[in-house]
Amino acid sequence: MNTTQTPRLRVLSLGAGVQSTTLFLLSVQGRLPRLDAAVFADTGWEPKAVYQHLDRLEREVARPAGIPIIRTGGSNIRTDALDPGHRFASMPLFVRNPDGTVGMIRRQCTDEYKLKKIKREVRALLGYPTGRLPTGLFAEQWVGISRDEFTRAKDSGIRYAINRHPLLDLDWTRADCLRFLARLGWESTPRSACIGCPFQPNAEWRAMRDQRPEEWADAVAFDYAIRDGLAPGLADDRTVLRDAYLHRSCLPLDRAPIDKVTAHEWGQRQGSLLDLLADQDDTEPSGCSPWTCRGEDPDTRLAGAAA
Ligand code: SF4
Repeated sequence: MNTTQTPRLRVLSLGAGVQSTTLFLLSVQGRLPRLDAAVFADTGWEPKAVYQHLDRLEREVARPAGIPIIRTGGSNIRTDALDPGHRFASMPLFVRNPDGTVGMIRRQCTDEYKLKKIKREVRALLGYPTGRLPTGLFAEQWVGISRDEFTRAKDSGIRYAINRHPLLDLDWTRADCLRFLARLGWESTPRSACIGCPFQPNAEWRAMRDQRPEEWADAVAFDYAIRDGLAPGLADDRTVLRDAYLHRSCLPLDRAPIDKVTAHEWGQRQGSLLDLLADQDDTEPSGCSPWTCRGEDPDTRLAGAAA
């Protein structure tokens, strides 16, 4: 497609984390072009802070600006995983291989719970919920990727939604976004990822355990349920679940060494030293936003296997 053509719509893929919230606010401020809508792909198992953040964003920014936030809904990844009748949508669980090495179940959840639903909403916004779209009709789809994670920028793979990365055009880092959000009173912007997402590094598990005990208990219970055979909606081969874990150590979550600062975490701290001076929170990758799921990042898998 000739991408110099004019998009019919401008849509934000709203992960509700730091970068996508920054894009939303920049658009409302007029520093970026006006959005027509924002789409939040809801897995149904996000931390409470994410839903509170979305509510506030809708109340204080989106509605006054007349930009709808569309929440995909109708499913809950945790409930589905525990439902024997649900077609499996596997999470990237860590598994102990017969030879003792650590592997990971192929992830299908991002596609199932996020990408497919966003694509459906974009089609609907374009006026073609089903059927063939006219040639040349497309939406510009903003994805919140900052300079520090530019390798995650990629095409949407569909011709009716062309991905754009305005933070890369602005050359903003995640620390720039955090400073911008703090100036506007949005320093509480959370990370967005499922409560039981195995991609969470130790620092995020620690924060959950120490600051959000209810969500921690929920994740621990889910972790045990996997191996008890109570999560049949997670894999077509149920036998792998007998040795599947949320934590990369392949130990039950409440016994996993989450207080250990991994080599990966240290590496990030070293690499982010300057930004650390600006904000301690810049040491970790952002949460699992739909088009930049950390599962796409080979370093994440490597760190998981080596921890
Ligand atoms: S946050 Fe994790 S568990 Fe949830 S959809 Fe993304 S990869 Fe899957």
